[in-house]
Amino acid sequence: MEKLVLLGGTPLIQHEFRRQNFIGNEERVAVDNVLKSGVLSQFLGAWHEDFYGGPKVRELEYNWAKYFNVKYAVSVNSNTSGLIAALGAIGLEPGDEVIVSPWSMSASATSILVWNAIPVFADIESDTYNLDLKSIEDCITNKTKAIVVPDIFGHAADLDAIMQLAKKHNLKVIEDAAQAPGAIYYGRKVGTIADIGVFSLNYHKHIHSGEGGVCVTNDAGLAERMQLIRNHAESVVAGKKVENLSNMIGFNFRMTEIEAAIGIEQLKKLDRIIVEKQQQGNYLTKALSGLNCLSLPIVKPECTNIYYIFPITIDVVKLGVSVSTIVKALQAEGVPGLSAGYVNIHLLPMYQKKIAHGSGGFPWNADFARKTVRYSEGICPIAENLHKNTFIKMVLCLYDFSFDDLDAIAKAFYKVWNQLDELREWELQNAHSDCIA
Ligand SMILES: *Cc1c(COP(=O)(O)O)cnc(C)c1O
Repeated sequence: MEKLVLLGGTPLIQHEFRRQNFIGNEERVAVDNVLKSGVLSQFLGAWHEDFYGGPKVRELEYNWAKYFNVKYAVSVNSNTSGLIAALGAIGLEPGDEVIVSPWSMSASATSILVWNAIPVFADIESDTYNLDLKSIEDCITNKTKAIVVPDIFGHAADLDAIMQLAKKHNLKVIEDAAQAPGAIYYGRKVGTIADIGVFSLNYHKHIHSGEGGVCVTNDAGLAERMQLIRNHAESVVAGKKVENLSNMIGFNFRMTEIEAAIGIEQLKKLDRIIVEKQQQGNYLTKALSGLNCLSLPIVKPECTNIYYIFPITIDVVKLGVSVSTIVKALQAEGVPGLSAGYVNIHLLPMYQKKIAHGSGGFPWNADFARKTVRYSEGICPIAENLHKNTFIKMVLCLYDFSFDDLDAIAKAFYKVWNQLDELREWELQNAHSDCIA
């Protein structure tokens, strides 16, 4: 067996991996046609037929609604904007609490603060990394108004149970489906199960238009309110004769015709991309299944997993080597897109210091807010321990892996696992020299 690179050997993988790029001639032609038309955007921030945007924006929304089997799709310029629009649309009041996962992109929680509502972090499941039902239940107070549920890494959260719990407590649910477009849950598409689902068309997601996002719902009222928030609500409500003025603070969340034209072509490719990602994810799972102390991604029987990220939990106690050493060893062998930990949003400085709007602690210190919301370490023990000690991830969505590539990656894992004793020794010495330095 070749020595590990960390121990002075040569890298097992010596080639670069191909980056995922599904932008092709279709997108080029579509963009060219928009440019030739001269209409790069057709939105008008007033009550007028162009309030709903131009032909490509409307076509993308029509196709999106059809593909996802929902009544309404509202395009926006990012998933972040979509979350803000969705949370405004459900009628959040200042001081309302919204339960959210610490394991998501930060915007899942920041979008709550935008409306002066208070994010409350529930813990996650240790196998799917999605919100844990019991923990959500424990977070519900008489201030709770909604739950933001990410379908993290490309696998659905426990959606039916969450919807049932929400119904019982009269809460709205928003799915952050940025990482799971086209993933399946009991025959339905992820993102369409909650009151509103929000998708991303950002450049590092399964499909993209550079930047962009789409909100979906089956509720006409919510769709209308999201359309208003997207496009200068305050100056449209009079003309449109909108009576409920709550949260009719409008933004400019409008997508351009160019982005929509790209999005239309990308959506046509989504099914194929999903199949590829599933093949890659399943192949890698199988290839790594012979290693001990590894928990590989699960696919619940009612779900598909579309592997935005390939998540792995390591039993570091049994293995006797830290996650950071494992990652260093694998990276040195040439494994791409690999890193330790994910995120704990509640531990970001904004939450630790409670400084968001201005510098004085607003909205947490306002009269309308419950004063006992905490973000201290320990509130999400599973998420925190995974991030700190046991979790590694490979960003599968970044690369266009062949099966040969995945075989090489798996080989690197086996190479590392075959030299754990030496690695343990290396770790001891390294920790020691770190101390001296
Ligand atoms: C990428 C991502 C976002 C943000 O999407 P943008 O379109 O870049 O705003 C939000 N939530 C999750 C879970 C994401 O993965």
